[in-house]
Amino acid sequence: MQIIRDIATLHRAVSALKQGGKSVALVPTMGALHDGHLSLVRMARRVADHVVVSIFVNPTQFGPNEDFAAYPRDEARDAALLVEEKAALLWAPDVSVMYPEGHSTHIEVAELGADYCGAARPGHFDGVATVVAKLLNQVRPDIALFGEKDWQQLAIIRRMARDLDFGLDILGAPIARDADGLALSSRNAYLTKEQRAAAAAFPKALKAAAAAIASGADVAEALAEAKAAIVAGGFDSVDYVALADANSLERLTVLRQPARLLAAARMGKTRLIDNLAVG
Ligand code: AMP
Repeated sequence: MQIIRDIATLHRAVSALKQGGKSVALVPTMGALHDGHLSLVRMARRVADHVVVSIFVNPTQFGPNEDFAAYPRDEARDAALLVEEKAALLWAPDVSVMYPEGHSTHIEVAELGADYCGAARPGHFDGVATVVAKLLNQVRPDIALFGEKDWQQLAIIRRMARDLDFGLDILGAPIARDADGLALSSRNAYLTKEQRAAAAAFPKALKAAAAAIASGADVAEALAEAKAAIVAGGFDSVDYVALADANSLERLTVLRQPARLLAAARMGKTRLIDNLAVG
């Protein structure tokens, strides 16, 4: 597997992969790879001839008081995992390659980015949309894969690709979870052993709320119960637990399909997100 850090070499390598009409899938990541990321790589291998993975911890999607500096980084370990998964190349640009002096263009997917994580993390989705647009333009894949774990992000990227005519397929992959139901996340590494054990209360509360809403419970009551259960389970605060239209992300006060339960909660300094289909 080639590890590439400059755009000219990347273009040559991707052109070589595409020779003979072969297809290329891109899996963008911030590294610290876990089975959730690797499930995307495996899905990419099923849908395309070659898989390109990017690792870039994107500074513009972190707020000033967030964990950009502390974000886990271990490229050697990640590269070894990607070799095992038969990725063709790893695109790992430096910040100076991604954002050269004078970089001043940004993408805002206004309608979908304001609520939920967008409200809790101002500017986050502008950073995400901009870097994903750049990665898609740099690699020019036929298909790009993103996890349903970041449901709002996936909706924003789909909308951006449609609005800006990127002309490629965006695929979403199911959430990979630990045995106790907690969604795999690079940020789970921040949790102490005790916190990690307690964190299972988060998906458990969402599952209960989704089941209650699907069987006709009052939506506001079910959401309030989920929030209470998350705090009772050891979380310090809940940013949001909301029922949303799965595509437009509009908040729903009564169940209407397709619906998704979206949530974010904080334990100590760690902020975790999750979501579930309802019904
Ligand atoms: P990240 O490195 O956190 O930016 O994630 C890179 C990609 O992996 C994103 O498309 C995420 O949605 C996806 N991803 C992260 N965790 C999971 C998971 N537990 N299951 C499925 N996809 C995931």
